[in-house]
Amino acid sequence: MAEEIQSRQLDSPEARAHGSDSSGRASGHAFGRGGVSQEHSEIQSFDGGGARPPGLGSPVPQRSGAQVGGGWIEQFADAPDVLKSAPDQKTVVWVRGVAIGGGEFVTMAGPCSVETERQLMETAERVAAAGARVLRGGAFKPRSSPYAFQGLGLEGLKLLAAAREATGLAIVTEVMAAADAPLVAEYADILQIGSRSMENYALLEAAAKTGRPILLKRGMVATVADLLRSAQCVVSYGNPNVILCERGIRTFETATRNTFDVTAIVMLKEIARLPVIADPSHAAGRRSLVPALARSAVAAGADGLLVEVHPHPDEAWSDGEQSLTFAEFDAMMAELAPWCELRGARSCVPETVA
Ligand code: PEP
Ligand code: MN
Repeated sequence: MAEEIQSRQLDSPEARAHGSDSSGRASGHAFGRGGVSQEHSEIQSFDGGGARPPGLGSPVPQRSGAQVGGGWIEQFADAPDVLKSAPDQKTVVWVRGVAIGGGEFVTMAGPCSVETERQLMETAERVAAAGARVLRGGAFKPRSSPYAFQGLGLEGLKLLAAAREATGLAIVTEVMAAADAPLVAEYADILQIGSRSMENYALLEAAAKTGRPILLKRGMVATVADLLRSAQCVVSYGNPNVILCERGIRTFETATRNTFDVTAIVMLKEIARLPVIADPSHAAGRRSLVPALARSAVAAGADGLLVEVHPHPDEAWSDGEQSLTFAEFDAMMAELAPWCELRGARSCVPETVA
């Protein structure tokens, strides 16, 4: 699609002269809605007479990296306030003194579901000691089966608030219904929009309007453009504090729960101003794969992690197969520290753990 738009630009003499797309709009905000930037002047000066691949008689456009980037920007034209307007532009989301997207690699960890006071408190204390900055835990659970545990609801929110009180960790929890947004926002520091809800625009509106930061999970069948469109929706409702989360997408591969799209992380970091975190737990569906995926997220430039941890994963009420034990979480965090350092990100692993 981007290529189509670009070739239309190349084909039209008017476009060549004015740098506009076929609709006549000023084209592209490649690092600058305001500035029709260099890549467009390069496109304008393309004369079609460049190199020919062996065996082909017709000219092929030679695209520089910047021009390819220009094509991407056209593809994401629905998300102007989410795209960078300068290469180093970034939104830092502040939550209880933690800067997400601000240079520290921020780990959010905890159980898939809030089950009992003991389960949550033990987990909160252990993940905090290992360097997590945010406690995750679902009180409202989107379950594939209507017979599965649906979450503790309000009781779960209260337990999360008590765990925050005890540990100082910020809280992220999912909101599933627009009507629940004000209630969840009373207890949570960050509202999670789950994969199944990414395109529930009424929910996005209600969540955005609470003023709480939004952790927006990529839908399991959503493209990067779809994710950015939903993020734009939240920003358009007056809430710029959106954290994007890659959590694996559905592909033909069935050996893992989902396919971890590391390319999306790299790409989002390049084009979007918002923080990007990775959820290796839902991507992999198996705890043994989680630490390596977490390392790849650091290497890809992610701003943090969302990871499932449980005191006794085999007894978990949801997602036990992909939840780390405390010992596995400690080991993962210690292992991640040098990777963060190599990348130049601060890791929040205490000296005693690393
Ligand atoms: C979760 O984080 O527990 C969850 C349900 O995630 P997702 O929406 O990515 O499936
Ligand atoms: Mn889960």
